[in-house]
Amino acid sequence: MIQENSFDTIVSISTPAGSAHRGIVRLSGEKAISIASKVFKPDSGKSLRESANFTALPGTANIPQVGPVSAVLFLYRAPTSYTREDVVELHTFGSPALLGAILHRFTSLGARLAQAGEFTKRAFLSGRIDLAKAESVAALISAQNSSEMRSAALALSGGLSEKIQKVSHSIRDSLALLESAIDFSDQNIDYISREEIALKLKEALKNLQPLRSSALPHLSGVRVAICGAPNVGKSSLFNLLVGRKRALTSPLPGTTRDTVSESVKIGAVEFLLLDCAGDAESLLPVERFAAAQMKKFVQNADIALFVADSSKKLTSRERGLFNQISCKKIFVQNKIDLPRSPRFSPPKAPPFTAGVTKRSVTVKTSCIASAGIPELKSALLSLVQSGAIERSHSAIAATSRQREIVENALKSIRKAQRSLSEGRSEELIALDLRDALSRLSEITGESVTESILDAIFSRFCIGK
Ligand code: GDP
Repeated sequence: MIQENSFDTIVSISTPAGSAHRGIVRLSGEKAISIASKVFKPDSGKSLRESANFTALPGTANIPQVGPVSAVLFLYRAPTSYTREDVVELHTFGSPALLGAILHRFTSLGARLAQAGEFTKRAFLSGRIDLAKAESVAALISAQNSSEMRSAALALSGGLSEKIQKVSHSIRDSLALLESAIDFSDQNIDYISREEIALKLKEALKNLQPLRSSALPHLSGVRVAICGAPNVGKSSLFNLLVGRKRALTSPLPGTTRDTVSESVKIGAVEFLLLDCAGDAESLLPVERFAAAQMKKFVQNADIALFVADSSKKLTSRERGLFNQISCKKIFVQNKIDLPRSPRFSPPKAPPFTAGVTKRSVTVKTSCIASAGIPELKSALLSLVQSGAIERSHSAIAATSRQREIVENALKSIRKAQRSLSEGRSEELIALDLRDALSRLSEITGESVTESILDAIFSRFCIGK
């Protein structure tokens, strides 16, 4: 492995391999400008030293064995550049042979080939960006699908680091209170208010929980969870909305135990439909797990389609589930092709506070007769268009490393919360809180080992 030295000037081709219209070779470090000056002459006749910061200079690069090539040089002086060092980017034709020759020329003039992620590592080490941002940059660059791209972009734009700082602040406050109690413990005086700590921990959990990438797939779209008791027609409805047979339907209850998801466009809006497992009382662990999973999906959804079979009486379990749903909900009275049970009555929901739209809307459908589907689609659309659905763009942990840290920190805070409510010693509570705090600092990079840094930055591509 090449020994890194923060004073080295590093170089790499920062455009993807292969022929392209344009190619970029990037230098960063103390000697970046002097090395580039030996190769590139601006048309202006001014030297690079005299040229202003943040300028794009058209000119000519003279490469041995190639000759003069027209190029544009971008100049970013320390400390205003990405790495906070002098940075020079030479933009020219994207021929791999030409870019290779420029790279060779720069290394012969004293630059060293950059390692994967070294530009971003320098940006992190110089304090330009924190580790959470650096990691999100890597995740964004290497995103293979829209879901990965969305989580990385959310982590970057939603301020993952700021959220972590906020949580750490609440924990630090609790620790300060606990530590003062530990200091005065021999004086038999109750110096802390356990309620105050409990509130701080609650706040920490409230801020940390949403950072877990949600249990839902990270696809874009308004998330619609189709829920209800088994056998009411959830999968049939899902298939009709999707427009093809995607989920398995069956007269036997409990066919869907996994959540099936599919994106559909209704009008101009993209919806992510989730066909959840039915909610039923069961002794079978798999079914209990499926029901718990369904509740998680419903909790994280933007809209819940609560499906009920109108040929039957609504059970109290169904009413309970319907009332528990806190997001916007549509009550789907399905199977209207069958005689309506005289004992069927839709649950009553209080009107939506803003008064713009009711908190729950009822739509009558028959999946067998394909009736009521356009009405259901327009109910979904009008919920979105009325502004009743707020899409959250908050930050989430984008990489598996960050997710693991968040999970572990959550565990430690919850443990501290339990110890607090059980009246355990301040030392014990403080121990868990310190653990949570030190874990969280690994996300922002305040405390992180060299080997973790190496592992993170090696996942970058060269040139970033
Ligand atoms: P899920 O368990 O809630 O997903 O329900 P399914 O979609 O698997 O449907 C359960 C059974 O009800 C199947 O035999 C469906 O054919 C039937 N079914 C679904 N919707 C309707 C409907 O609108 N009318 C009638 N008569 N049967 C339906």
